[in-house]
Amino acid sequence: MKTIPFIEGIKEFKNIHFKENEILFKELVEKGENPKALFIGCSDSRIIPALITNSKPGDLFVVRNIGNMVPPFKPDDDFHGTAAAIEYAVSVLNVEDIIVCGHSKCGMCRALYEHDKITGIELIHVKNWLKLGDDVKEQVLSIYKENPDIDMYELTEKVNVLYQIKNLLTYPKIKEKVENNSLRLHGWYYIIETGEIEFYNSETNKFEPIV
Ligand SMILES: [Zn+2]
Repeated sequence: MKTIPFIEGIKEFKNIHFKENEILFKELVEKGENPKALFIGCSDSRIIPALITNSKPGDLFVVRNIGNMVPPFKPDDDFHGTAAAIEYAVSVLNVEDIIVCGHSKCGMCRALYEHDKITGIELIHVKNWLKLGDDVKEQVLSIYKENPDIDMYELTEKVNVLYQIKNLLTYPKIKEKVENNSLRLHGWYYIIETGEIEFYNSETNKFEPIV
C-alpha cells in the first residue's frame, strides 16, 4: 500500500480537533459559510492564515498563490483562479474586509530579480506569473538606487502588497464597494521569524506593528 502522508495528523484532527469544533462545523454546514474576510496570502508553506490570526473555521475565505498576487481585472475567457475567488468572496459571500498579506523571506519577491535566468518549459507558468511583479521591481530598484542601504527584499515584499491593493481596485465591484464604504482593503506584512504582523498605515505611508 502507498504510504498516505500526514496519517498521524489526520487521526489527531479527527479524534481531537474535529471533536473540539464539532458543533461549529455542523452549524457552518447547516447555515453555510459567512466569512468575515477574504485573505489573500502567499502559497509559502510557512504562512498559515488561520494560525497567525487565531481564526476559526468559517472566519476566513482564503486565496493563496505565489507571492500573494492579485492579477488586474481582465474579463476574458481564460481560467483566472485568483480573480474567480476574489469575485466570489466579494459578490456572493459579501466579505467586508480584504486582507492582502505579504511576508518576510518571500521566494517570489526574490525571484523577481532572477526570473531572467528561469528557462525551460517546466516553469512556463511561474515565469509568466512573475511578470505580475514587474512594476514592483521597477519601483523598488529606483528607490534602491537612491538608498542602497535599505533591505531591497523587504522593501519588495512590502511594495508588492501595496501594488496588489491597487490591483484589487481594478475590479469594478471592489471599487464600488470601497467607495460606498461596504468593503475595506488592508495591507499586511507577516514576519515569519518574529511572528509579528504589520499593517499598512496610509496616513504615515508605513507598515506598522498591529500589536
Ligand atoms: Zn511568499
